Order: sequence, then structure tokens, then C-alpha cells
Amino acid sequence: MLLSIVVPVYNEEANILKFYQSVTEVMTKLAYDYELIYVDDGSTDSSSSLLHELADRDKRVKVLLLARNFGHQIALTCGLDYAHGDAVITMDGDMQHPPALIPELVRLWEEGNDVVRTIRDSTEDASWMKAFTSKYYYKVMNIMANVPIVEGGSDFRLMNRKALNTLKRFREHGRFLRGIVGDLGYKQVELHFVAPPRFAGVSKFSVRKMIHLALDGVAAFSTVPLRLAMYVGLASGLLSILMILHILFVHFMSATVVSGWATLAVAIFFLGGVQLIALGIIGEYLGRVFEEVKHRPLYWTKECYNCEKPDNTHTK
Ligand code: UDP
Ligand code: MG
Repeated sequence: MLLSIVVPVYNEEANILKFYQSVTEVMTKLAYDYELIYVDDGSTDSSSSLLHELADRDKRVKVLLLARNFGHQIALTCGLDYAHGDAVITMDGDMQHPPALIPELVRLWEEGNDVVRTIRDSTEDASWMKAFTSKYYYKVMNIMANVPIVEGGSDFRLMNRKALNTLKRFREHGRFLRGIVGDLGYKQVELHFVAPPRFAGVSKFSVRKMIHLALDGVAAFSTVPLRLAMYVGLASGLLSILMILHILFVHFMSATVVSGWATLAVAIFFLGGVQLIALGIIGEYLGRVFEEVKHRPLYWTKECYNCEKPDNTHTK
């Protein structure tokens, strides 16, 4: 039995050694062979040379260097494609997904679960803003999305070969792995944990990247925003009919001449706003359709150390 551990890293030079040591310590105590697959997501610091050294020293370390920064979800996908294990664990390389929890994940897998998901109850060093936006994001998602997306869901999880092979058939660009895995079915179990602060460095998720991930999540799992645009349009249409009735009433029934320019201006601005919002929503989806129909590869690598060919068992 082989366990694969997949870790995306982006400018994590100060964490790589610490992470490697902790994982090695935990894994040597388990009764399984393992491979540690690092995916370097276009780091510009010394991460890639540190990983090269590790791969030279330890043949269980496999390193894939992506040609540029593709983002966390794509880096994870790349690692999953190259994993050969009977079960695979994905985790962050900054110690926020504690390696000490691996034996517990493995135990739940041994009990017969296909997917072990972890739920982050809280993050010790999360800013007030991040905790707040994350909490409400999940709440809104759950109202809108067709599949349940658990609050605090993280990309720290274990999947067995069966679940992984199914996941690998999902090749969309705008990927929100948490949602896809939740939608796979099979026997899933949850494990709660508190994420410790980052060991070193700062979060690699810029506000821009967070907004992108959030929008990918919404657009990939829900068409409610499109419907919402229609409802708002209907409401404002109705409003304008009421306004016309009011204007006709005033015109025929009262002798006073009303200038009415304010109402007109408000109506124009209001309707203009609604139309732009609706167009924006359509644009969000259209942009994603455009990305998908191009059928571009999800990622491409520039180098790999100790790695074998991607695992293609899912296509058989
Ligand atoms: N990461 C990545 N590509 C990116 C951004 C982040 O591979 O474009 C990696 C990063 O190195 C880390 C993991 O994804 O191992 C989670 O990122 P981070 O800790 O910055 O996110 P946070 O914990 O703040 O949500
Ligand atoms: Mg982190």
C-alpha cells in the first residue's frame, strides 16, 4: 500500500524544511510506503532549489515545477495527476494543515471511508476580516449552490484511489475542489481541526486570488445569480409600470403641472444600474464558458525531479 502526499508550494522557502521534517517524522511511524509530491507553483524564491536538494537526498520526495504560477487549485490538481498512491492526502505546505493529523486521516480511511474531509473550526492567526468573509461566504454559497459546501471546508483531505480517479475526470478550469469533492458521493467522513498559524512567511492568497476562488466557487456550482438578475429585472420592470400608472393618474386627474425630472433621472439611473449588474453577471459566466471551450491544458510543467509519468488509471 502506498500513500501519496500532495503539497502545493508557492514561495515557501522558510517552510519547506520544517514541513518535510514533520511529515517524515509522522510517516515513518506509519506502516505504509509513501511518496511526498511537491508541486512548485512558479515560486520566485529559493523554494525550487530547496526542493531539488530534498529530492536528491530522499527518493520518496517527488517534485514537479510548474512553468509559472497557476494558482493553488491547479497546483493541487497537478499533484493529484502524478500521485500513484492507494490513498492520497492533499495539504498546504505552511504547517496550517498539521502533519500530526495524518495518522487520524489514515485511520478513518482504514475504517472504510473513501474520502476524509477536514473542517477547519477556526484559524488561530486569521485576521478578523478573513474569518468574517470566509464565514459568510460559506453561508451565501449554501443558499445558492446546488451542492452543500460545508463551512470551514479546507483542501486538507484524504481520498482513496476510487474517489481520486473520479475526481480526476473533472477537468474544468474554474475549479473549486472543495465543492467537487463534496459532490462526488461515496463514503465521506468529516474531521474537525483548528488550523495553527503559519510557520513562516505570509499568506500567498492575495485578495485578488481570494475573490477569484470565491467567484469560481459560486459560478461553478450555482446559476442562482443568473436567475437573481432576472428577478431584479422583473421587480424594476414592475416598479416602472407602477410609475407609469402614477404619471398617467397625475396627468389626467390633477391640474398642476409636474416637472417630474427627478423621478425620470432616478428611474434612468436605477434601470441603468440593474442592467449593468445583470450584464456583469452574464459576463462572469460567459468568461468562464470562454475559458472552458478553449480546452487549454490546465497546467504545464517545466521540470520534475524523481517523478514518474502521471497516473492514468482513471481513464481505463
Ligand atoms: N499556494 C500555491 N499557489 C498560489 C497560492 C498558494 O501553490 O498561487 C500554496 C501555498 O504555498 C500554500 C497553500 O497553497 O502551501 C495555501 O496557501 P496559503 O497558506 O497562502 O493560504 P491561506 O492558508 O492563507 O488560505
Ligand atoms: Mg496557509
